[in-house]
Amino acid sequence: MNILDKLLKEKNLTDTEFLQILNTDIYDEELYKIADKVRREVYGDEVYIRGLIEFTNYCKNNCLYCGIRCGNDKAVRYRLTKEEILSCCDEGFYLGFKTFVLQGGEDAYFTDEILCDIISSIKNKYPDCAITLSVGEKDKESYKSYFDAGATRYLLRHETATNEHYKKLHPKNLSLETRKKCLYTLKEIGYQVGAGFMVGSPFQTMENIVADLRFLQDLKPDMIGIGPFLSHKDTPFKNFENGSFYLSLRLLSIIRIMFPYVLLPSTTALGTINENGREMGLKAGANVVMPNLSPERVRKLYMLYDNKISTGEEAAQSKALLEKRVENAGYKVVSLRGDVKR
Ligand code: SAM
Repeated sequence: MNILDKLLKEKNLTDTEFLQILNTDIYDEELYKIADKVRREVYGDEVYIRGLIEFTNYCKNNCLYCGIRCGNDKAVRYRLTKEEILSCCDEGFYLGFKTFVLQGGEDAYFTDEILCDIISSIKNKYPDCAITLSVGEKDKESYKSYFDAGATRYLLRHETATNEHYKKLHPKNLSLETRKKCLYTLKEIGYQVGAGFMVGSPFQTMENIVADLRFLQDLKPDMIGIGPFLSHKDTPFKNFENGSFYLSLRLLSIIRIMFPYVLLPSTTALGTINENGREMGLKAGANVVMPNLSPERVRKLYMLYDNKISTGEEAAQSKALLEKRVENAGYKVVSLRGDVKR
């Protein structure tokens, strides 16, 4: 049996076979086609939109790749008030968003009490909308309190499933074990959970990527966030090359075929590295986009990597432009919550 037929039929390959398709571009066109067919069988031509609110760029962590790491003293820090966050939601709701994603650094200012108050205020005002959190590693009680306040989805990329690699990307106080534990805890509480990793992060090997796919098979997340690593000039990784755009597309397709039901964003990083990256990501199997709803004045401050896009189709306010581009790619933006279809 052809290797791609096997992937489609069994949703799995041996490590050697995964390496075989990861290491070449000869399967790419066929992979995109199969991934698109699989996504259409589960999600039709619908593209779900999430309004991304980057509400704080303070972070206590010092991840070596990230522009908002605490060690970057050139970063201009900000945090949004509850009122500002709510007004982002007002604008998003008006624009047709049914999911709000609150993402931020690990900022101690936002205690569980403050965060729960924000979550429940959004939930009270927009009971039919979904609230997604992406605020890093917390203990079980904290995760549970956010869930009880109304957040039902959580994004926490595992970053890499290989211990030695994890250590090269993170400071000593962070561990893969804790990251993984958080993901399983979130699942246990009842969240729709998103894991994922950067493609082409420093020191990453193709074997590391196979380990990432194996970890995803074990976790079975509802969402998988992947995008190229992009370097930031004020981090220790400033001289590392960006991740490959085409390897990122290849992985989107492989992931769609392995996990037909998964919610798979065509990420901002993909749109940053290539002008048509978002559309090409959709054609390779992605079915979610997350335009930016943060206030204009802070957009340029949530700079995880150099040149991160925050205007044009990336801005939630330009939804019409995004709709046109999505339509040109052969899909349609829908104003639905867009829950996972298991
Ligand atoms: N603090 C939360 C957390 O740890 O999950 C959420 C914010 S964190 C900045 C969101 C994601 O940005 C990370 O999971 C990481 O994969 C991605 N990211 C950070 N720096 C990046 C870079 N230089 N290139 C590409 N993605 C990056």
